[in-house]
Amino acid sequence: MTSTDITKTSDWPSNESSRRSTERFVLTALEGLGFRLQTDDHHIFKAHAPEETRETLNGATMIRFTFDNFSAPDVTPAGIEIMRPGSRMFNWLLSQLKGKNLVAHCTPEDNPASLSEFSERLFKCYQIDGGKVHLLGCTLENKPFLELTYLIHPKHGNANADVIHVTITPDGKRIDNDQAKILHSRRLAPFPGKSPNLRGTDVANWRQLGASLTELSNDTQTAELIATTIIWCTYAAGKLSFSIGSAAAELPFEGWARMLVDGTSQPPMFTCPETEKSSYHVAAIDDGRITVADAIGTCSKTNRRVLTMDLRTCAITKVQAMKTYFLTCPISEQVILKSAMANCQTCHEMVSPEILTDGTCHACRNLRSVSRDDPRMARILGEYPRLDRWGGWKLVETTNVYICVAKSFWKRLLIVVHRETMEVRFVATGGKLFSKWTEASQLEKSELLGSLRSG
Ligand SMILES: [Zn+2]
Repeated sequence: MTSTDITKTSDWPSNESSRRSTERFVLTALEGLGFRLQTDDHHIFKAHAPEETRETLNGATMIRFTFDNFSAPDVTPAGIEIMRPGSRMFNWLLSQLKGKNLVAHCTPEDNPASLSEFSERLFKCYQIDGGKVHLLGCTLENKPFLELTYLIHPKHGNANADVIHVTITPDGKRIDNDQAKILHSRRLAPFPGKSPNLRGTDVANWRQLGASLTELSNDTQTAELIATTIIWCTYAAGKLSFSIGSAAAELPFEGWARMLVDGTSQPPMFTCPETEKSSYHVAAIDDGRITVADAIGTCSKTNRRVLTMDLRTCAITKVQAMKTYFLTCPISEQVILKSAMANCQTCHEMVSPEILTDGTCHACRNLRSVSRDDPRMARILGEYPRLDRWGGWKLVETTNVYICVAKSFWKRLLIVVHRETMEVRFVATGGKLFSKWTEASQLEKSELLGSLRSG
């Protein structure tokens, strides 16, 4: 064969995908016919012919070809065939396929071959502080797609023929974008070993279904089916186990093995069951529970690593600690570290330091005159009838207590009563002329209140 035999189609390939389609078809078809393929750095292929095909090649044992587009026949290296629709070698290939009704079983060339190749890539997606990840179980299942290859002949003008692949799902639909990504491969490799069982799928029916979905022939072109390929892709489903210390957590996953391996799709993030936060960074808190790094904080009181959802921030000091270290101010309702609360010098309740003025809380400074008929006063007097001899009642309530002040002819009384239990929390008396209060002794309390329900 000499360079002058080459059909000149200078405007081919019309685009890269057209060239790739041709390349994929030719290489798959040659392998299907029993040719052994080799390629070199210059993208020149060698195809070693099987015994039975040599006669049609005038006795040649090997053909060399390229898909590259040389600008003119005279610069094509001698003895190298051009492989493109319409070329001599391409037509020879079509004649070999004609009538054979070959169905090639293939996989994308980078379909993961082993579980270890697959799991290694999967594990790399996760960072596990002080622990490790392993596969708890995984099945790799080969799922088939049908690829129909058409040669498109334009009916008019001088445009060249083109090769198009149409891919159909096992349930007879055109593939979606995700599936196209799995199948997008420059080369298909023959399925290693015995091809899997199609489980009752009739290739002829499948092909018919595919053809009916693909109306490629129209007023301007005709479509000729030139190859049928079953492409097997590996679908993985399993469970990962993360272990840190003696604790373990599981994560189910599934997806196309090749997409997980080449990074086209990511495995699922681990989701902390308690905080519902998700991440690839897995870590444990000090009590051993496994969560994600983002969900972990430190309790400033214990220095322990805990879930941030269990921490509170002090409204006064801004320090974070476990909620057991906090109280809520009964007046401002701020959440404050117990150690940052202040004691009101009048009612002796623990309150936010922000609501103290000269040591007295905002409530104690805002007592309002109240009649005996007020439901709150009625409750207090009902519980402690001896208080009825006092008059001039003033009252204020917080979320916890009633703070009441009363007077008699020569004395003043301060009493703090819990709103729910009616327990007396503090009693003090004072002179009429001075604002100072003196806490009542146990004996004085009995005299003032009668039977006392003090804690
Ligand atoms: Zn107070």
